Amino acid sequence: MEKGDKVYIERDFKKFNLIKEYDKILVITDKNVKKLYVNNFIKSLKYDNTLVYDISSGEESKCLSVYEDIFKFCIENGLSRKSLIISLGGGVVGDLSGFVASTYMRGIDLVHCPTTLLSQVDSSIGGKTGINLGIYKNIIGSFYQPEFIYININTLKTLQKDEFLSGLSEVIKYGLIYDYDFLDYIIENKEKILDLDEDSLIYIVNKSSSIKLDIVKKDEKESNLRKILNLGHSFGHGIEKLGKFSHGYAVSIGTHMAFRLALKKKLINKDYYDKVIKIYKEYNLPMTFKNINSKYILDIMKKDKKNSYLKFSLVLPVGCGKVDIIEDTKEEEILSVIEEVRN
Ligand code: NAD
Ligand code: MG
Repeated sequence: MEKGDKVYIERDFKKFNLIKEYDKILVITDKNVKKLYVNNFIKSLKYDNTLVYDISSGEESKCLSVYEDIFKFCIENGLSRKSLIISLGGGVVGDLSGFVASTYMRGIDLVHCPTTLLSQVDSSIGGKTGINLGIYKNIIGSFYQPEFIYININTLKTLQKDEFLSGLSEVIKYGLIYDYDFLDYIIENKEKILDLDEDSLIYIVNKSSSIKLDIVKKDEKESNLRKILNLGHSFGHGIEKLGKFSHGYAVSIGTHMAFRLALKKKLINKDYYDKVIKIYKEYNLPMTFKNINSKYILDIMKKDKKNSYLKFSLVLPVGCGKVDIIEDTKEEEILSVIEEVRN
């Protein structure tokens, strides 16, 4: 086992245990999570020298000025190379805390304690950290692995329904790109998952985080295999930017486009296409959009850092639970599926 591979999935914070010794611990969280969990979490830490820093909730906190404020706090409170940073929160807290930990005194230890479904199955795994600069998302960042990741599955019970469903879109993605049996589990256990049944939550978080770990271990710096994690993301990008959709919802719509294109290209059959669309519908995830010009979406796809500027490099399904990177798609083909998915 290496750093970043250790994922503990538990039903509370009680089993949280540090192996190494630290002179100080800084827990970085956001205002919502602080109210709900910080006291309980600190009790389980059983550590005298613990400080808490809370940021405003939301993407706007992933910026240079908040990063600078945390740095000043670390200096003023004497954090050293023997100190530890723990992120307690969603992907915003995780990405920002990770970047602080990776750069404070050239890097101090980090532990992630993700509390949203998206952060438990996606952002806390793989070692990407970062902050935004204006409109440029995650443009300042690093690859930095945490000592371990500790997930308390019961934090999902206070999450807003929309946030939960948005994270589920990434969970379904893992079935589509890597594990067809997992896709069947997601279909067969819909009621339990939506009812937040603990065993089912543990199953889907464990499965999803293991798949992501497996993929990033084979390709840490995103040269090839890791690209399959972007299913639906290229198409969804414009919708996320221009519409009012959350990341996960935009990915659902983007995945719809990817599946339509794959069907047209005869990469998959109609039965599989229908089965997948039905899953999204049953989970009440959006499949269509309106009020955005199709050409805008195409333009954003062209600028996407994952597409080289001459050709589209798209992750498309090529069979049940399998995807591949397909490079021979023309602009007209893409525009036509965008149009079809427009409501
Ligand atoms: P988030 O961190 O903004 O959390 C969403 C909302 O839920 C916030 O308002 C937060 O306060 C609240 N919240 C968190 N935990 C809660 C809980 N248990 N109960 C109630 N409310 C809770 O959003 P997110 O979706 O977790 O993460 C999105 C971020 O993750 C983006 O910035 C994105 O760029 C990043 N991301 C990073 C990676 C990566 O590999 N590093 C991958 C995917 C996404
Ligand atoms: Mg994503």
